[in-house]
Amino acid sequence: MIHDFKTSCNRYEKNKYTSKYFFDTSCPKCIAIGRFHLHASYPRNLIYLEKGIVKETQKPILRIKCLSCKSTHAVLPFDVIPYKIINVGYFLKILLMIYVEELPVKEIVKCLNTSFQAIYSYNYEFKYFLVMITNFLRAKYKMKTTSPSIEEIVRYICSISKSEDFLKKYLEYNGRPFLMAKFKNNLSPPVYFGACKI
Ligand SMILES: [Zn+2]
Repeated sequence: MIHDFKTSCNRYEKNKYTSKYFFDTSCPKCIAIGRFHLHASYPRNLIYLEKGIVKETQKPILRIKCLSCKSTHAVLPFDVIPYKIINVGYFLKILLMIYVEELPVKEIVKCLNTSFQAIYSYNYEFKYFLVMITNFLRAKYKMKTTSPSIEEIVRYICSISKSEDFLKKYLEYNGRPFLMAKFKNNLSPPVYFGACKI
């Protein structure tokens, strides 16, 4: 999969892409540069926030094919969480409501039009990645706190997540997209990650 760090979920349009768009993009599998042609697309459900309003939609996602190694790669908006229907902004909103605003789960469910199970499951996944995230913040953002609480970490992430290279830095540092839970126990997930340049 290739993350397009110029395009967020709400601005993603499959039809805007041409093969020229990927002239300086490396193939995540064979590292050939700019050797792609547009291949196919598939529908993907997406939930994200737009000006604070929950948007639920389905968008066609582009797949491109590397002419060198014949592998195909989905081109994803940079803020999507692979294998999930919600984006990073929506996920962070849940964390903010739990740890900073300290709202009851019932209220979060109502506000974000989701389920109790979804909230508990996202919170569980966040805790699974907490050490990885904390190490990243210390290494790349010089987070000073010695033993930060979850609330402090959530506040910190929310304060820097608007910086457009936060998710790119995370991908480069950890070798996997932010909050991607699938294949979390695999040192080498059976997918290749790449990025369009900012
Ligand atoms: Zn290739």
